Amino acid sequence: MPAWICVTCAVQQPDTGRPPEHCPICEDERQYVGWGGQRWTTRDELARDHRSELREEEPNLLGVGVQPAVAIGQRALLVRTAHGNVLWDCVPFLDDDARAEIDALGGVAAIAVSHPHFYAAVVDVADAFDARILLPEADAGWVQRPSPRIEFFADEVQPVPGLTVARIGGHFDGAAVLHWPAGSGGRGALLTGDTITVVQDRDWVSFMWSYPNLIPLDEATIGQIARRVERFRFDRVYGGWWGRVVLADGAAAVRRSADRYLARLRGERPPSSPPA
Ligand SMILES: [Zn+2]
Repeated sequence: MPAWICVTCAVQQPDTGRPPEHCPICEDERQYVGWGGQRWTTRDELARDHRSELREEEPNLLGVGVQPAVAIGQRALLVRTAHGNVLWDCVPFLDDDARAEIDALGGVAAIAVSHPHFYAAVVDVADAFDARILLPEADAGWVQRPSPRIEFFADEVQPVPGLTVARIGGHFDGAAVLHWPAGSGGRGALLTGDTITVVQDRDWVSFMWSYPNLIPLDEATIGQIARRVERFRFDRVYGGWWGRVVLADGAAAVRRSADRYLARLRGERPPSSPPA
């Protein structure tokens, strides 16, 4: 029996003989049902014309994507540490070559996911590496495919010594980030998925209730997100897609982006004429 994968969000549902009627992830106002109606695929179907893509982002940080992109098109990140490797976020499909390559790097000790849109094939990938799955209790209701590997945490957890996964909230109540102090040459990196999303102007980030439907967050929540990451020292911010990276001074980028957002919510905006 296959685990059905939603074509629009790529989140796996439980193994059943027939595909489910609904994808609760896509029927939520933060997502959308595909314009052609609810459709499903499987790992075997994806394997026919997709492959994994592994790219070094920086030393000890490996990007893990799927080519061509599936659904939301995120890439996951494998953080390598002396205490074991942690996969941040997940992909709908991992091919045998990628699995062997990751095994050669020491495998995966634990997987943590920024938010339910990126749960993808987290159970398959965890099974492949005998890994723990760490998810925030606040989003327990969004888990689509249960597994005995899933462990829930309240506000903060260390997947391996030295790395911290913290619940930040906003996009989802359990929306999380991973702090990697050794990243960016020891200046620290924050891996954010789209709990904090790196925007096209990569000196900036943003925060939304829904990205595809462009539904903003409120003032109190933006303030809370900014405050909750203040305790982390970081230079880079790795968003959820290839290239979506704030390369330097990331903590300041988060602060000024939150300030700009709050100013707009108050009705303050710069003149719309071009610079002189
Ligand atoms: Zn879906």
